[in-house]
Amino acid sequence: MKTEPENAASAVGLVLDGRYRNHQPGRWHPERPARYDAAANGAVSALPAELAVTIAPRPAAIEDIRLVHDPAYVDLARGEILAGCGSLSTGDTETCEQTYDTALLAAGGVLSAVDAVMSARVRTAFCPVRPPGHHASPARGMGFCVFNNVAVAARHLQRRHGLRRVLIVDWDVHHGNGTQDSFCDDPDVLFFSTHQWPHYPGTGAAREQGTGAGKGATINCPLPGGAGMAEVESAFLHALIPAAKRFKPEFVLVSAGFDSMAGDPLGGLRLTARDFAALTGIVLDIAAETAGGRVVSVLEGGYNPGDLESAVREHVRALAGLPFQSGPPRKPPAASSRAAGSLNGTTGAGRLRRNQTP
Ligand SMILES: [Zn+2]
Repeated sequence: MKTEPENAASAVGLVLDGRYRNHQPGRWHPERPARYDAAANGAVSALPAELAVTIAPRPAAIEDIRLVHDPAYVDLARGEILAGCGSLSTGDTETCEQTYDTALLAAGGVLSAVDAVMSARVRTAFCPVRPPGHHASPARGMGFCVFNNVAVAARHLQRRHGLRRVLIVDWDVHHGNGTQDSFCDDPDVLFFSTHQWPHYPGTGAAREQGTGAGKGATINCPLPGGAGMAEVESAFLHALIPAAKRFKPEFVLVSAGFDSMAGDPLGGLRLTARDFAALTGIVLDIAAETAGGRVVSVLEGGYNPGDLESAVREHVRALAGLPFQSGPPRKPPAASSRAAGSLNGTTGAGRLRRNQTP
């Protein structure tokens, strides 16, 4: 039997590959290759060498992509990209000739991370992959997304690893309409999203709760522009934690969009780098309860490269259980919030206090 390395509980897998720069939507496009460098730099600088485990990504196979996407859409996307159309006819996604291979490597990188976690090589992993994925629905790429990286990973966990219940937490400033569409009638994938609303892509109202057997397995927490950690954390404490306690996920995926950070050019929420550490702590507490601590986090948005780097740094440090690296200590939430729910006797707020810089 394989023996876990000494630091397995805190080591974080990082999916690193310079080919994630190869998708170039255009010189002035906000989803630019420099985002990979910012996110990768933030992740690498977050960890001492002994806690960083590099994961080499594999390209997803067509069969992997078809776990979520309609074969006709996969053919269309491949055809349009390789024909040099410059954008997908299904939505606002600019492409270049390298986009198709990069999109396969993005989805495959997340599968590589999931496999590393399932084999207990690491407990958690972060994937600074691009293009992002959460706006891509089974039949349609849009919103800078070609294939839905997180959705493919969720189905991979179910079909290849034999897990049943997967939780997807999406804190991107935009609603993850593609992820919602992929699992709206599936009671075994719980999709939780905080996002600015109304905002692109227009979906994500609180009344959107899933359909058929999946009714209740979609939880949307729309927030007005200008909302910050008080509102986002309240949604995590009062909506996500109780739902997760009922759902009992066996694995947690994070659609980690950092465009919900204050000052992002594409969003109007006001999270800070250390807020992402606190949200990560809540996710880790949920995973510790029923998922063996298994968390794979996947880059979605985040369009201010300097802020993206600092936010990813704090997110990855939190994944490793390390304290905040920057910023003043954060005020703990009110006692009434802490009473909302706890997992294993530790709330996200509890982890937050443990992580504060002395
Ligand atoms: Zn976004």
